[in-house]
Amino acid sequence: MIATETKTEALLKRKQAAVASGIANSTSIFVEKASGAVITDVEGREYLDFYAGVGVLNAGHCPKPVVEAVKKQADKLLHSFFAIAMYEPYVALAEKMNQIVPGKQPKKTMFANSGAEAVENAVKIARQATKKTGIVSLECGFHGRTLMAMALTSKVKPYKHGFGPFPSDTYKVPSAYCYRCQFQSTYPGCGMHCLEHFDRFFAAEAASDQIAAVIAEPIQGEGGFIVPPQDYFSGLKAICEKNDILFIADEIQTGFARSGKMFAIEHWGVEPDIMTTAKSIAAGMPLSAVTGKAEVMDAPGAGGIGGTYGGNPLSCVAGLETIRYMEDNQLCQRAQHIGDVTMKRLQNLQERCAAIGDVRGLGAMIGIELVKDRKTKEPAKEMAASVIKLCLEDGLLVIGAGIYGNVIRLLIPLVATDAQLDQGLGILERNIQKAAAAC
Ligand code: PLP
Repeated sequence: MIATETKTEALLKRKQAAVASGIANSTSIFVEKASGAVITDVEGREYLDFYAGVGVLNAGHCPKPVVEAVKKQADKLLHSFFAIAMYEPYVALAEKMNQIVPGKQPKKTMFANSGAEAVENAVKIARQATKKTGIVSLECGFHGRTLMAMALTSKVKPYKHGFGPFPSDTYKVPSAYCYRCQFQSTYPGCGMHCLEHFDRFFAAEAASDQIAAVIAEPIQGEGGFIVPPQDYFSGLKAICEKNDILFIADEIQTGFARSGKMFAIEHWGVEPDIMTTAKSIAAGMPLSAVTGKAEVMDAPGAGGIGGTYGGNPLSCVAGLETIRYMEDNQLCQRAQHIGDVTMKRLQNLQERCAAIGDVRGLGAMIGIELVKDRKTKEPAKEMAASVIKLCLEDGLLVIGAGIYGNVIRLLIPLVATDAQLDQGLGILERNIQKAAAAC
């Protein structure tokens, strides 16, 4: 009998021939459709989604009110270019963002298409507002794949290697990666050497009067779901304020209920000067935002920021409906519940499985750091890859993270049912144990 090619095999061949290989794929799944926390591939096979389009689908796949709003808008207006002929959804979403982003002072917003583009614009705005040029970012941070965003990013391979030279006047400082503290200290007794380092940095690397902004993810995502200690951001903000430096919170992955609050920085009670958002803002429609203090946001001159598609009508109505959906369905509380259940089960597993070096996170943003040895903390990258592969075979989609590639990151859609949560965690627990036994 002649074996017939599956739809997936045929598509994969076409993909390999037609699509640049830098657009890599970590699975060979071709998606036909998706709903809530379930993806169905072109073979009709269903997968539980525990990565949510890498943090894009906090409100789940295809939330009904969002889909309806996009369809309705598509019949009316697809594009006009907001800088030429304006439309109401852009203004309405800006008003909503100004209302929900933390900060008592009047705020303003601009829209772009991708996370990296939001970061680029935040840097431009900060430079205009401060009339300074230096930008400080944190080790283990990820801010995107455009040139400035790459310069601010910390993971060398695959994101930066061979893509330089990068824009100048960017600097890195150690992040609060307590599990692998660069200063070999332990919180809370450490006195926060990572913040004290700024004194040395301003003396040795760049004077504070050269620095326009510090950009940081409240929880480092791509870097390995690293959660800084409770007094980290108040300390960082104090350093910024003392030196007339703006603080940019990059909430592109942490935002929109993921951490149990609308924005993760709220856990630290700190108000950023500028916030970048994207991903879950519009349930998968391309949209990003820069929101900040009005006087900061108004610094660039007319036409200095913007772009052809930024804040297109479809994305703006999707954004408005997505945020409404999150509020109506109390997705912050749901994130907290999903996080509590997940954390408890993984901490239990950690007691039985020496390969789990650390389990950390806030709300439903949880990372599992795998190690070959708990004492040396040698990263177990192959074990993480094996867990991801075994889960895929069992119908669960999870992805990796971490500068050493040894962290399993969980970004469960916040609409996942308790039964789906239980099923997915069961698959994950089983395969972590299986991979740990084999490695
Ligand atoms: N900033 C953070 C914190 C991110 O997690 C990402 C993407 O993962 C980006 C920026 C870049 O976003 P995009 O891929 O939409 O350009």
